[in-house]
Amino acid sequence: MSNPSLLILAGDGIGPEVMAETRKVIDWYERNRDIRFDVTEDLVGGCAYDVHGVPLADATMQKAQEVDAVLLGAVGGPKYDALDFSVKPERGLLRLRKEMDLFANLRPAQCFDALADFSSLKREVVAGLDIMIVRELTSGIYFGEPRGITDDNEGGRIGVNTQRYTTSEIRRVARAAFDLAQKRDGRVCSMEKANVMESGILWREEVQWVHDNEYPDIQLSHMYADAGLMQIVRFPKQFDVIVTDNLFGDLLSDAASMLTGSLGMLPSASLGAPMANGRPKALYEPVHGSAPDIAGQGKANPCATILSFAMALRYSFDLGDEAARLENAVEAVLAKGIRTPDLMQAGGGTPATTAQMGDAVIAALEETLG
Ligand code: NAD
Repeated sequence: MSNPSLLILAGDGIGPEVMAETRKVIDWYERNRDIRFDVTEDLVGGCAYDVHGVPLADATMQKAQEVDAVLLGAVGGPKYDALDFSVKPERGLLRLRKEMDLFANLRPAQCFDALADFSSLKREVVAGLDIMIVRELTSGIYFGEPRGITDDNEGGRIGVNTQRYTTSEIRRVARAAFDLAQKRDGRVCSMEKANVMESGILWREEVQWVHDNEYPDIQLSHMYADAGLMQIVRFPKQFDVIVTDNLFGDLLSDAASMLTGSLGMLPSASLGAPMANGRPKALYEPVHGSAPDIAGQGKANPCATILSFAMALRYSFDLGDEAARLENAVEAVLAKGIRTPDLMQAGGGTPATTAQMGDAVIAALEETLG
């Protein structure tokens, strides 16, 4: 069997810095766990524009379609702010998501014990938190037609967006959530606004249908999204997997991510339909952007990208134990008080550069070998 293939797109700003540390981790797995990847690297975002005049070359798009997983750093920066909208760095990322049809966006909200005091909530509310938000990413109100701003012929204007979901769009993201729950605690909470939106009624009915017909062993509950957001900030540990639409998922996942402290710690995955080899189309990336304010200074926290690679191990390569090994290594580094500047605000700790943080993760991985 050929090695699993990985396309690395480090991108702009701190992207190459955090990716260099993730490369150390990938190399460690090759050396010590005999897990070999066919790794290729290419350009996305502003650096691709500099070379090709577009933020994602067709050849790169083609490669992304063929590999088992894409690992992306970040795109964008002030140098590219004045570019035409059609060639802005972010368009490269949007093209990847669209053409790979990545309909399920996975955002874990996991609170490492050593960082529990970073949260805006009380330690006991967030310590040990481990929830997964699955957001539908390719449909709903951000894409629905009709849309636009028109004159109302009475001197005013009308802004219109349309929330639209089909049965198949809801069912496929529901399946993604139920599949995840099977690898976790076996519970899914679906969130919509079925009390005031017809698309919410359809959402609730279709998620229930997928449950009853295909995943009866999973515990399914439903919640209105506004009540769900209240519960996320009141008692987040009650949830395992949350599945919701594009708009509510945008809000819920950003709110949940703040429970866990720093942007430098947050990974994500976007998954599509299974390929011929059974693996889903997949893009893994940190939630943060290219952080031009700290780029090139060795201040970036590489953990979000390293943890995105852990998600790739779990969801693309079915190596859940190895993913847990890596997550535990990151946790061990934090427990030792090793901190990039973004993690220093609570005081104390041993200051670390981006590279030192990566090295500390490698040292913690070494320790897992006993
Ligand atoms: P950002 O996420 O880049 O930065 C927000 C703040 O968080 C900054 O103060 C930054 O220093 C800090 N930060 C981010 N990642 C960090 C890390 N790993 N370690 C330590 N600190 C970190 O968001 P922004 O400033 O709004 O955007 C900057 C650029 O990134 C823009 O061009 C924007 O369009 C782009 N962007 C890209 C993505 C992406 O590639 N997915 C996402 C968001 C923003």
